[in-house]
Amino acid sequence: MFDFTLNGTHVLARAGTLVLPHGVVRTPAFMPVGTHGTVRGLHPAEVERAGAQIVLGNTYHLHLRPGEEVVRALGGLHRFSTWPGPMLTDSGGFQVFSLEGLRTVEEEGVEFQSHIDGGLRTITPESSMEIQWALGADIAMAFDHVVPAQSDYAHAEEGMERTLRWLERCRQRHTELTQTSPRTQTLWPIIQGGTHADLRRRSLEGTLERGPWSGIAVGGLSVGEPKPVMHRVLEELAPVLPAPVPRYLMGVGFPDDLLEGIARGVDLFDCVAATRNGRHGSAWTSQGKVNIRSAGLKSSDQPLDPACDCETCVRFSRGYLRHLFMAEEMLGLRLVSIHNIRFLIRLGEQARETILNGTFDRWSRDWLERYHRRGDL
Ligand SMILES: [Zn+2]
Repeated sequence: MFDFTLNGTHVLARAGTLVLPHGVVRTPAFMPVGTHGTVRGLHPAEVERAGAQIVLGNTYHLHLRPGEEVVRALGGLHRFSTWPGPMLTDSGGFQVFSLEGLRTVEEEGVEFQSHIDGGLRTITPESSMEIQWALGADIAMAFDHVVPAQSDYAHAEEGMERTLRWLERCRQRHTELTQTSPRTQTLWPIIQGGTHADLRRRSLEGTLERGPWSGIAVGGLSVGEPKPVMHRVLEELAPVLPAPVPRYLMGVGFPDDLLEGIARGVDLFDCVAATRNGRHGSAWTSQGKVNIRSAGLKSSDQPLDPACDCETCVRFSRGYLRHLFMAEEMLGLRLVSIHNIRFLIRLGEQARETILNGTFDRWSRDWLERYHRRGDL
């Protein structure tokens, strides 16, 4: 359980197989986000048919509503949501640090105001472990101190150091919780340190000292810094991250980010953009970005993306999808979400194939060039 095998590499890009209690994840892979225990708008069977191998659950949201005890009483997040495959829960760190209602950050934990009822709540490294254990995902994430994009050195250092101290507490509590059934959940740490190379390096060293780990996440990127800065941080981490461990780049998942990340050795990605953009009628396609409300699509009998094999593209026309959006029919939001999710999952599948046959470098460069050249339709 929690085994990772590298099946092949091409330059820095990696193709691997991650074995988890609820199934196998072939990497590189995009993980759709199911904030409230559902990938918004989609039936689990649709998520499965889109090729998703693993989905995310959101600790912060599920803790506030319905509460982890309700989920536990109803059989855990797998049974509750009826998603049969692997799952990962985030730690709640990113949400509480992004909140307007954030009150205080102390060594003990974070106090914040619930966005639902305004009540004051606290999450600590220990309680994050307890919530995630009750939810029961295959992978739990460490509770980390997230600092804003481009934080100065002192703030980034403070967040990074606290993340390490909290990691120690997470590890201890998680070990206690999993003692009775250690094979059902694993804990992954998160590397912080902002955009500062030596802080990232120290974060990694401190994390590895507290290991061993079955996976390592890189957090605090794609939070507003320029893309070349994110690429530099990944390039600096790639050679020092332990090769036999899967690498998860948190909260990153636009199509170009996926390929740029894979090219720098990342194995797993997640992002809400696929479904959020889908609900707004914005689709990624092999021909560039499509705004489904564009007047030019009114009479188009073309599929959304002629190169896509998703349930939306094999069945419906652009003209029909535009009509659904103009008429505010909920099917429209769902169909574009299905397409966007499949688009990212397929990108991972294609990357894996080209890594294994040694053509990834060229394929991804050509793909990115086309993607940037075409622009918006
Ligand atoms: Zn499609």
